[in-house]
Amino acid sequence: MSLQSYVRPRGLDDALAALADPRTRPLIIAGGTDVIPAMRKMRLGEPQAAGDDDDRPGVVVDLSQLDELRGIGEKDGMLLIGAATTMGAIARHELVKDRAPALAAAAASVGSPLVRNRATVGGNLATASPSADTAPALLAANAVLGLASARQGRREVSITDFFVGYRRTLLQPGEIVAYILLPLSRGLVRGRFEKVGLRNADAISMVCVAVEMELDGRVCREARIGLGAVAAVPVRAFAVEAALKDREIDEAVARECAKLVHEHISPIDDLRASARYRSWVAEAVVARMIIDMACKARS
Ligand SMILES: Cc1cc2nc3c(=O)[nH]c(=O)nc-3n(C[C@H](O)[C@H](O)[C@H](O)COP(=O)(O)OP(=O)(O)OC[C@H]3O[C@@H](n4cnc5c(N)ncnc54)[C@H](O)[C@@H]3O)c2cc1C
Repeated sequence: MSLQSYVRPRGLDDALAALADPRTRPLIIAGGTDVIPAMRKMRLGEPQAAGDDDDRPGVVVDLSQLDELRGIGEKDGMLLIGAATTMGAIARHELVKDRAPALAAAAASVGSPLVRNRATVGGNLATASPSADTAPALLAANAVLGLASARQGRREVSITDFFVGYRRTLLQPGEIVAYILLPLSRGLVRGRFEKVGLRNADAISMVCVAVEMELDGRVCREARIGLGAVAAVPVRAFAVEAALKDREIDEAVARECAKLVHEHISPIDDLRASARYRSWVAEAVVARMIIDMACKARS
């Protein structure tokens, strides 16, 4: 099958209906910043070579204009972000900057202004790149993802369970990410995101780290740490988090705990960095962020 049609549904139910028939091989598009480069490689206008299985999409379903999937607000003490909300909108939003600063910083670090005006947070998660920048921030925020499909209806899953392998998620055929929920803690929670790339701007992460810490003075009551580009999937550094819990943080404690990051990472060599460099940077950045958050800045 070659590409037959492009649909821009008016409502979420129409979108789910358009995605429901696997025979049409539907392809979701939101901002298109990952999909369009991939489609260029698919040679959609050309006939399939004889004898080859054609796995090219038959219909493109555009979610980018669905109001039900866009916007940011507060709901039942949670921050609610529609999956088709752009990185630019997330990075600029006062509520996100105030209550989820790691996510705001992660969104602000994606590509260039042109990319951020198109790229959506749902697309960033569904692509499931190990270096997807919003993933560590959402892991550190303990986010819940709202999924929807015509066949299975609605369900909510923890982001910790969402990434199941290299560029694979638990999304079923015809299922979309509809929204993201971030619990808003009542305690004093600090959040930070740091990205190490080959340039200061418009760079894919070599390593990215998001940390959320609930602090009582210098005592860490709770910590959550998300890491990107250091394993096949974005990961939580559970061992570091457990070691920090209820400890009074000083530089020695931060460095001791940060060493445990190696229990969770398995970086590879690629064109951006060696595995050894990524390992070293991940430990160093985690240690520095903990020290900065607990012992220095009050933000
Ligand atoms: C120049 C450039 C620079 C970039 N820099 C960065 C960077 O610094 N950091 C970074 O993390 N990424 C970067 N990216 C990658 C890209 O911008 C992000 O992954 C983006 O967030 C994808 O969102 P999108 O809306 O464009 O997704 P699309 O390209 O429309 O879709 C991406 C994938 O997700 C699926 N999809 C989209 N929305 C949904 C949904 N709601 N539910 C289920 N599936 C869905 C699509 O079918 C497709 O498989 C860059 C890309 C470019 C072109």
